[in-house]
Amino acid sequence: MTPERDPLESPIQYVKGVGPRLAERFAAHDIHTVGDALRFLPRRYEDRPLVASISALRPGEQAAFLAQVLDFGMRHAGRGRRIFELLLGDASGRILCRWFNFHPQSFARRFQRGARVRVAGLVELYRGQRQLVHPEVEPAPEEAGEADAASEALEAERLIPVYPEVEGVYPKALRRIQARVVDAYAAQARDVLPAWVRAAHGLPELAAALGAVHRPGPDADVELLNGFRSPGQRRLVFEEFFLLQLGLALRRERVRRQRAHGLCAGGDYAALAERLFGFALTPAQRRVLEELLRDLAAERPMNRLLQGDVGSGKTALAVLAAVAVSRAAGQTALMAPTEVLAEQHHRRIAELLRRGPDALETVLLTAAVKGDERRRAFEAIRSGRAGLVIGTQALLEEAVEFHRLGLCVIDEQHRFGVLQRARLRGKGLAPHVLVMTATPIPRTLAMTLYGDLDVSILDELPPGRQAVRTQVLRGGQVGQAYRAVRREVETGGQAYLIYPLVEASEKIDLRDATRMAEELAAGAFRGLRLGLLHGRMPAEEKDAVMRRFAAGELDVLVSTTVVEVGVDVARAGVMVIEHAERFGLSQLHQLRGRVGRGSRPGSCFLVAHELGSEDARARLKVMERTTDGFVIAEEDLAIRGPGEFLGTRQSGLPAFSVGNLARDADVLSEARRTAFELIERDPELRAPEHQALRDALWRRWGQRLMLAEVA
Ligand code: ADP
Ligand code: MG
Repeated sequence: MTPERDPLESPIQYVKGVGPRLAERFAAHDIHTVGDALRFLPRRYEDRPLVASISALRPGEQAAFLAQVLDFGMRHAGRGRRIFELLLGDASGRILCRWFNFHPQSFARRFQRGARVRVAGLVELYRGQRQLVHPEVEPAPEEAGEADAASEALEAERLIPVYPEVEGVYPKALRRIQARVVDAYAAQARDVLPAWVRAAHGLPELAAALGAVHRPGPDADVELLNGFRSPGQRRLVFEEFFLLQLGLALRRERVRRQRAHGLCAGGDYAALAERLFGFALTPAQRRVLEELLRDLAAERPMNRLLQGDVGSGKTALAVLAAVAVSRAAGQTALMAPTEVLAEQHHRRIAELLRRGPDALETVLLTAAVKGDERRRAFEAIRSGRAGLVIGTQALLEEAVEFHRLGLCVIDEQHRFGVLQRARLRGKGLAPHVLVMTATPIPRTLAMTLYGDLDVSILDELPPGRQAVRTQVLRGGQVGQAYRAVRREVETGGQAYLIYPLVEASEKIDLRDATRMAEELAAGAFRGLRLGLLHGRMPAEEKDAVMRRFAAGELDVLVSTTVVEVGVDVARAGVMVIEHAERFGLSQLHQLRGRVGRGSRPGSCFLVAHELGSEDARARLKVMERTTDGFVIAEEDLAIRGPGEFLGTRQSGLPAFSVGNLARDADVLSEARRTAFELIERDPELRAPEHQALRDALWRRWGQRLMLAEVA
């Protein structure tokens, strides 16, 4: 069967009024085909009734009207500034239009005295006179000599779609092009949503949705449209999310169909926790432990994300799971993002487990483990004697052969990519996988990024934990923070001083770690033992500094954000974060979780240095108000948007062209639920009514979603 050519694949260049030059402008916005143009949606809609006469123009209102060009010219307004003015009139009166940014040559050529024009814009009042600043001015339809049905119809429309700016294309030309594309192609757009899905969610057909979104009729509801809540808009957003969620559902289904060891090992793990650690599990821990044990007992691999704030007791649960796995004759691999963290885990866990009722043997395997010790570790892993193996990515090396790997725990997962997750599975053993993260991820993001994982949440801290006291300071008050550091050290504690990562190119005003370490050593912190940690240091050097700090050989650690993940130094009670306005809230939360880990109460100073950032200060105040990581994450997402929230280009977050995770959370949930339902019913998408969907899925996400597991 040869696929018929999709008319929506036609290059935008061949649409009337586009041509090679404009096609390039469109390409800069990733619009290559008419199909891309159809998904390029208006950002907002303006309700611009055609006003009958100039005298009827009201200040403060958006309006469109027809008028005659009376005069125009450029005026000098002092200090080299120029203003272009256009005087318009009709039988009822006159009005002035002004431009402050314009291209002198092309502007002079644009107008002709006596010509009839159509003008649209916001009517303002300036020194008692009505005026329009930077209005849209076009030849009046009758003068433009355009017999084009689309452009005429467009003139008659009351609701004007406003598209995101495409540089080099006038807004009105853009509207006209879009109108032509919609008229010629919308009806041919293939609707991939099965009828039952549309019916269940009250979604219009694709062609109707595209029409309503690009060319809203006179009765359309502007408010609904501007809130992106109209049925047409929701339908397009739903479709986009639905395709992604289907991909995730399929991927999850594939993993579930692999076989795993059913590691059913009964026992009273809550009692074991008390015996091993000397504390009772929190209700949240008990609930999550149940979820883990249930997954482990199944003969398909666990594929779970455990989210819990710093110190909520995730590691403790991983250790209990490891015991359960060993009771069913399996091994557990616990992978930390850095050697320091792997060693830290090993130091805490090995002794506990060896002395515990199961006498479980734990081995450490990192690049730093060498020679005989390394050989012994390999041997213990291969023979199955090692019940728990703690390490870093080195554990993924080919040479490491497990006797019977039952469970993989990946701690602080955001340092591990999806690829590594896939690689683990590639070993053919189908171990159960538990990914743990202390970065609370807002629900919408979790559904998108980790949508193929089941999610457990530890939403409760162990009792008796003191919240870190947080205080926002202005740059001028930084001395207050430095004094707190000194006091902390003098009373037997330690402190962190955190700086933003500094790019070589933006050294200007930022107090970067290196320079400040020197300055402070000679000034505010004279006599204290300072250590310096930054991203450009070689890994061994970083580890060495970190070890000295952990051993109490350093009083103050001056650092960029490398301490972010998991580091646990019980005596560190104070943290000062410089240029806090540069960090995301979630990152700040993560950072401050490093203090107050032991019996010393923690305090954190957020120093905002940049002037004129009242907003930034207000944002930081959230940190004073709450210590709930999820509340902070939601706030952060709302402020910065998903891309920045995740902080990296390779965050793995797909670029949505219509959907917006912050705005369309409810549509996302619906799309997700439906997608998973559908895969449950038709896991291979074999039903004829799902064919179009299957094709679309491959076209859209093929490589990325399906092949990752096979790689
Ligand atoms: P996470 O890995 O989520 O940061 P950990 O498992 O490392 O948390 O626990 C943080 C600290 O709290 C550890 O010192 C741990 O022993 C302790 N802890 C964990 N669970 C409890 C509990 N239920 N009651 C008291 N202390 C606990
Ligand atoms: Mg931890």
